[in-house]
Amino acid sequence: MKITLSQFAGFCDGVRRAFDIVNNLDEAKTKKPVFVLGSLVHNQDVVDRIEEKGIRKIDMQKFLDAEPGEIGTLIITAHGVGPQIYETAKEKNIELIDTTCPRVIKVQRLAQLYVKKGYSIVLVGDKDHKEVRSIFEWGGEKAAIVSDEDDLARLNLGQTEKIIILSQTTQSKDFLELVHSRLRERYPSVEIMDTICLTTDQRQDEIKKLAAENEAVVVIGGKESANSNRLFEIAKSINEKTVFIERVDQLEDSFLQGAQSVAVTAGASTPDWIIEGVMKRLERL
Ligand code: SF4
Repeated sequence: MKITLSQFAGFCDGVRRAFDIVNNLDEAKTKKPVFVLGSLVHNQDVVDRIEEKGIRKIDMQKFLDAEPGEIGTLIITAHGVGPQIYETAKEKNIELIDTTCPRVIKVQRLAQLYVKKGYSIVLVGDKDHKEVRSIFEWGGEKAAIVSDEDDLARLNLGQTEKIIILSQTTQSKDFLELVHSRLRERYPSVEIMDTICLTTDQRQDEIKKLAAENEAVVVIGGKESANSNRLFEIAKSINEKTVFIERVDQLEDSFLQGAQSVAVTAGASTPDWIIEGVMKRLERL
């Protein structure tokens, strides 16, 4: 069986940077206790490794409700946060380790900038995703999130409003284009800044090709990882024999029966050690 590993599989630059910062934390110099706001990445293995370092996960509400002194340091994940977190941390004298991906910061800044210029923002992305919430919060009241076609149909902006479309960095290019073309019909002067991360683009383009060229596809990623889910959706739409796994033990032998070639890809939050495990398993099969 021919096995092809995607050249873009695994940690993207932003996630690798966040993981390295946390992994190399100088514990002696870090104000304790240390918390991370949500999961550093959408991968349980990585979350477990972080916990082994004594870094606990905290959710947004608990962070906001924490008494002064309860949190020494807060790690902000690569997905970024809205302005309220920075303000609260300052008020409560909490040190921040900010691993927000520079490309996410760019979209947050664009949201701020366009609001200042009087635009309404249409943010294309999953409304429950941390990155989208963070960009949305920087956009304030002038932002609306479009996650699906229903949201798009419900969007009701004034005909004379200046509108800019921004997107989640891991958004599907096809859906972004669909939103743009539909909005152009209703608001001819709508503008767009394609803020999809190049890594995501390359990964999505490559999986289209690999799914068409191979008899089976294995997508590795966390169930909560937006970009991994998207890779799976794209591959599955092209090649019915596509499976989505988070760990090597979820790969069933029967899945590959009869397949002469398999392509393997992994979302941006999948660590190298999991990809290597899957590759070894496939080679043994
Ligand atoms: S996908 Fe791109 S924007 Fe998102 S964290 Fe990774 S490098 Fe940053």
